[in-house]
Amino acid sequence: MSSTAADHRAIAFKLESQRGTEFLVHVYPSSQSGQAVARGICTGKYPSYQPAGAFQAIASQHDDGTAVWARYVDGLDLPPIAREMTVRVPDYGTQPGYEGVRLVEVTISARCPRCGGPRGAVRKDHFVRDGARMVRDAWHNGCGHQDDYQAVLAEAARRAKQVTKTAEPQPRGGEIEPVQGGRYEKAVRLIVEALKAAPWARVRVAARLLEENGEREAADAVRQFIGASATRNNTSARAVARYLVHLDSNAAADTSTGGQK
Ligand SMILES: [Zn+2]
Repeated sequence: MSSTAADHRAIAFKLESQRGTEFLVHVYPSSQSGQAVARGICTGKYPSYQPAGAFQAIASQHDDGTAVWARYVDGLDLPPIAREMTVRVPDYGTQPGYEGVRLVEVTISARCPRCGGPRGAVRKDHFVRDGARMVRDAWHNGCGHQDDYQAVLAEAARRAKQVTKTAEPQPRGGEIEPVQGGRYEKAVRLIVEALKAAPWARVRVAARLLEENGEREAADAVRQFIGASATRNNTSARAVARYLVHLDSNAAADTSTGGQK
C-alpha cells in the first residue's frame, strides 16, 4: 500500500464529498514523511487541500509505518482532530494473588494503534463483577480493530513513561498555557491545538484560523503585533500564541491589582 503514491486529488475530492468524516490518505514508511504530509494538508501546502484550514490531518502509527488520516472541515465547527483520550477502564490485575477489579482512569491515544484511524466514541458500559455492578468506558472502533482492556492499560503505561521521559528536556520552553478567563483564551487554545498538527505553522495560518473561528479581536491583535516587523511573514504561529498569552497575562495583572489607569 505504501509503495504507490497517494492520489491526492482523488482523496481530497472524496473527503470534500463526505464532510467531517475521516479517511485514510496514505501510509508512509517513515514517521517524518507522514508528519510532513499531515502538516502540508493542514496548512494547504498541497493544491488539492487548499485553502489552508479546509482540511484537518493527523499522522499516526500504523502496522506498516505512519498513516495519515484527514477530513474536510470547511464550514463545519469542528475542533482539531483529537490526539488523545481519557477513559475509565477495568484493571483486573495480572499479579498472582490479586483479586477483584478496580477501575482506573488512563490517557491513551485517540487513534487505533493498528491503522491510525479514529478510535470510537466512548460510552458507559455497565458490567457485573463478583456481584458488584460497575461502569466502565467502552468504544467501538470504526476501522474494525477492536481494542482490548489489557492492551489499553499497557498502552497507557507506556505512554505515561514516555511523557515523564520527554517532559524534562523540552528546549522550547514547554507548553503554551492560555490565561484562564483571558480575553484571548479561546484564540490561544485554537492556535495551540493547530500547532500539534502543524508545529511550524506561520502567522498567516494562525490569523486565518482566528478569523474563521470568529476570533476577530485576536486576529486584529495579531496583525498589529506583526505589522511593524520586517520578518512578518516568517513569524511563527507559536510566537503569535505566546504574544496573546502575554497580552492576557498583562491584563490579568492589571485587574488583580485592582488598578485602572
Ligand atoms: Zn484500526
